[in-house]
Amino acid sequence: MRILKQLFNNNQEWSERIKAEDPTFFEQLALQQTPEYLWIGCSDSRVPANQLTGLLPGDVFVHRNVANLVMHTDFNCLSVVQYAVEVLKVKHIIICGHYGCGGVRAVMDDMELGLIDNWLCSLKDLYQRYRKDLHDLESEQLQEDALCELNVVEQVSNLCRTSIVQHAWQRGQELSIHGWVYGIKDGRLHDLDVCASEKMETPDVYRILQQRILDNR
Ligand SMILES: [Zn+2]
Repeated sequence: MRILKQLFNNNQEWSERIKAEDPTFFEQLALQQTPEYLWIGCSDSRVPANQLTGLLPGDVFVHRNVANLVMHTDFNCLSVVQYAVEVLKVKHIIICGHYGCGGVRAVMDDMELGLIDNWLCSLKDLYQRYRKDLHDLESEQLQEDALCELNVVEQVSNLCRTSIVQHAWQRGQELSIHGWVYGIKDGRLHDLDVCASEKMETPDVYRILQQRILDNR
């Protein structure tokens, strides 16, 4: 007996539905992939890149990790970025965090969860750096939401500073980096308006935080 039979049944229905709409869809896709987007998002099961953007297989190259971090020592993430930018020549990289992120919550609550505590170290640093300012926001919910947003801005900034993105911009390659947050309560994407298409546009996390505090007064 095949285990997880339901998933195979779902898969068969899904592939037949797509073939009914476009009989050559999978044959065409098997020849090559030419996605315009690289999605860097959280591993959270509630934030699936393709479904929530309405994109089909072949449309988006995806990297996901807990709390959607871009770290300059993470060769997994950097390899994905390098391949996406230099080989696939994606035009947009979307860093998408989400409200209610367990990684952000764990950092704010100073929880001990095991190995993952090490993975979240840079997020802890970010929280410590802006902790006093975040406390200007009246509720804990607002502080958590703001840290979810700041984390995305920080990762956009990290990505802009990688040699991969810097070299792409130096070559004049068309490449924009976007920072979004997804609301798991309403299924909606929010643009943090930190789009960078050249070196000078690398976002400033502190400035974004001050704006958030002003907006909430
Ligand atoms: Zn998350």
